[in-house]
Amino acid sequence: MRITRLRLTGFKSFVDPSDLRIEPGLTGIVGPNGCGKSNLLEALRWAMGESSARSLRGAGMEDVIFAGTATRPARDFAEVALHAEGVGADDEVEVVRRIERGAGSAYRINGRDVRAKDVGLLFADSATGAHSPALVSQGRIGAIIAARPAERRAMLEEAAGIAGLHVRRKDAEQK
Ligand code: ATP
Ligand code: MG
Repeated sequence: MRITRLRLTGFKSFVDPSDLRIEPGLTGIVGPNGCGKSNLLEALRWAMGESSARSLRGAGMEDVIFAGTATRPARDFAEVALHAEGVGADDEVEVVRRIERGAGSAYRINGRDVRAKDVGLLFADSATGAHSPALVSQGRIGAIIAARPAERRAMLEEAAGIAGLHVRRKDAEQK
């Protein structure tokens, strides 16, 4: 899978619409402390379905919405769109997640409304996703070292691309 484009509106410090093209090869994000480098990585994980507010450095899910500054009012929604190649059956896929205050999250894949679970499955089958070991956040290395065996197994399963099978089995068991 290759992420080719990331668009953000109202996500954390990215209050104004931002459109980033990610070209093949190595991309570096540089800037002073607090300029939003980690927020960009969190936007990726969030669009892929991250459901833990804590792992997005917030207390609640709505904390990803631009909270306002001394000069700018808070927003009432956040939206992140990511474009990727090599995911699922299509040549290119666009995944959009949007959250509105008081209304929760909504997801779209190529313009179609889907469930969070569908986004999870899409990326799980490409051995990537919100919990992919390919996305290493600040402090994550320490967390991997300190992880309990079951957590570490989940990381390995995600890396091996079999996490999607577990989701499907759980789904089947519920039916
Ligand atoms: P460092 O180099 O220290 O790791 P960084 O470039 O990774 O910094 P981030 O942690 O991505 O920076 O960005 C932090 C900034 O994002 C802070 O200024 C914080 O106030 C801002 N921020 C986070 N959440 C929100 C929000 N909901 N609304 C507005 N600003 C936010
Ligand atoms: Mg950072």
